[in-house]
Amino acid sequence: MKYLVTGGAGYIGSHTALALLAAGAEVVILDNLTTGHRELAPQGVSFYQGDVGDAALLTEIFATHAIDGVLHFAAKSLVGESMRDPGGYFLANTGQTAVLLQAMAKSGVRRFVLSSTAAVYGEPEQVPIPEDHPVRPTNPYGLSKQLIEAMLPWFERVHGIRWMALRYFNVAGADPDGRSGECHEPETHLIPNVLQVAEGKREFLSLFGDDYPTPDGTCIRDYIHVSDLADAHVLALQALANRRPSGVCNLGNGQGFSVLQVVERARRVTGHPIPLRMEPRRPGDPAVLVASNARATAELGWRPRHGDLSAIIETAWRWQSRRGDKGL
Ligand code: UDP
Repeated sequence: MKYLVTGGAGYIGSHTALALLAAGAEVVILDNLTTGHRELAPQGVSFYQGDVGDAALLTEIFATHAIDGVLHFAAKSLVGESMRDPGGYFLANTGQTAVLLQAMAKSGVRRFVLSSTAAVYGEPEQVPIPEDHPVRPTNPYGLSKQLIEAMLPWFERVHGIRWMALRYFNVAGADPDGRSGECHEPETHLIPNVLQVAEGKREFLSLFGDDYPTPDGTCIRDYIHVSDLADAHVLALQALANRRPSGVCNLGNGQGFSVLQVVERARRVTGHPIPLRMEPRRPGDPAVLVASNARATAELGWRPRHGDLSAIIETAWRWQSRRGDKGL
């Protein structure tokens, strides 16, 4: 089987490309390298530098390679940035994905896996959050992904494109073999920021809000290892190959940790005191986001291999201290 991975030089896309190669598939990567890094694309893939919204390039890729399905990671994914530039998010995420789906329809490519997000749920009414929870995103990023999800049934009905939209919770960690990891500039996510303090790149961790309605006052999130997330994509493709129905599926461990619990765990992993500075809440942060992963386990047969929070932090810590070897 041969798959097109958009955003395959990015954090989650590169780990999924590794998982596909390990499963014996061939991989073609399309990445414009605005936030991706050529060094993260695994060896042995065909690589194209370009935009997902470039219909001519997509037509060329589909004509050159017999693509069995598309895994679509290329996107803008920062909530804060989306609050300042909603149009940029609707164009890059929703608009360019319409171009991609249209090109797939024209070229007869009929399997699609979308990188979606727990941000589609907004402030949850219920935790753990099941997939049939109402979708009411509170920021343009979440809406840009919800709009893609809303387009998909039409591409299925009219063009026969079968799909899975995977709603990620908090993705963290790095390839246990050190081949890829998180490389964002600027870095906004909790675990890499905490580890930057341990590494001496930051003086302290800014803790955004300690007055949330949670046991220790800090936000609770469901952290999932990026390699477990990558495995779920391989399973989603298998489900589509086995003619399982299209649909949405949460990806999380189903267990929540507060910001303070993450910091405490990172102190143990790194042996560094990791000083904190309390700061006001970050706009748009819900208090608690934890997935129900019943669907992923029952319907995809997904079993996390690196679900333990310490293992997640340890792999990220190893990557953070060695990524310089890759020139990153
Ligand atoms: N957070 C924090 N300091 C940071 C980065 C994040 O206190 O430097 C908090 C953030 O407010 C949220 C949690 O950590 O409650 C997870 O944030 P992250 O950006 O990693 O993921 P999100 O849940 O926003 O997708």
